[in-house]
Amino acid sequence: MKIKLYPEKCIACGLCQTISDVFDYDDDGIVLFADHHQETTIELANRNDALLAAKSCPTKAISAD
Ligand code: SF4
Repeated sequence: MKIKLYPEKCIACGLCQTISDVFDYDDDGIVLFADHHQETTIELANRNDALLAAKSCPTKAISAD
């Protein structure tokens, strides 16, 4: 699956990292990938937790397909 972040849409609500450790936050609470801080798109083996985090984001700052 491909996961893409849209940091400009993130409102730093803190939800996604509580659902999946794929996600982390920068010093301002804006989403980034825990293991790939510089990337906004990564390929991942199917992970239901990451998919759920994407679906749960209130501002659609994470896409997964
Ligand atoms: S759930 Fe969405 S808005 Fe909230 S911190 Fe994660 S990416 Fe940002």
